[in-house]
Amino acid sequence: MTKTTSLPVRKSRVPRLPAAPKPPIDIPPLALDIRDRLLATVEASRFDFEPEQRLSSTGHCLRQQWYAITGAQTNEVQGGSTWEMRDGDIHEADVKRWLREAGYEITAEHEVDGRNVGDTVHISLPDGTAVEGHIDGLIVGPGLYVPHLLEIKSMSYLRYASALRDGIKQSNRDYYLQVQGYLGALDLPACIFAIKAKDSSATKRMVPPGGDPKFHVEVIDFDPEAFQDVYERQGALRLHIIDGSEPVREYERSDWHCNWCPFMRTCWGE
Ligand code: SF4
Repeated sequence: MTKTTSLPVRKSRVPRLPAAPKPPIDIPPLALDIRDRLLATVEASRFDFEPEQRLSSTGHCLRQQWYAITGAQTNEVQGGSTWEMRDGDIHEADVKRWLREAGYEITAEHEVDGRNVGDTVHISLPDGTAVEGHIDGLIVGPGLYVPHLLEIKSMSYLRYASALRDGIKQSNRDYYLQVQGYLGALDLPACIFAIKAKDSSATKRMVPPGGDPKFHVEVIDFDPEAFQDVYERQGALRLHIIDGSEPVREYERSDWHCNWCPFMRTCWGE
């Protein structure tokens, strides 16, 4: 099932985030020293992209996945991927703990280096290649009598609000396809998609009265068409890896996907 290599350019509805504030010009040497020692430590434990196809990345721009696999130059700030991964781990651990306290049982996970990592699942491509991914777990409990896939995401308030307003299928196709890949691999009917607002401490003044500023759950049903899309995208990526050809860009330069892409400079030559 290895089809198209030419994907349509899409436009996202999530607005661009404001530019980060610049630090003060005169940073005392002691403060600089502390900062640099910490950054060097974070950098030393940095997370490197794995040179293989991943189900967790299946919704990402095909070209971005190809760059990660082929070891292209990233444009990330010092320790960027480590900050991001650790951030996600902390929120995921909180949500799992609170779900357990609320009476739910979470299975299909194990501890690796102090982190609770979900079990590995995979789909098989026509050439026999297995594309793997790690789920966050399976969940049963009140109202959930058969195991459902559990996927936990933490999001900036902008993306969180967008997910509440439009649903994951509309607001975040990357996550939607990731979930469909896992559901298809496990032959499960639905996913409990739990979203925590990362910047929840800043949302009191941003959320209308009665709104929930911190946590949202969406039930995402298995979507056979979307799973087929996952399958075809991974098949197309496999062909690009085999013949060494660069996939076309899936987004325009102004899209938030490109602004957040770790390979933006390589891709656009900036
Ligand atoms: S910069 Fe944009 S088009 Fe290029 S690889 Fe990244 S997401 Fe894709």
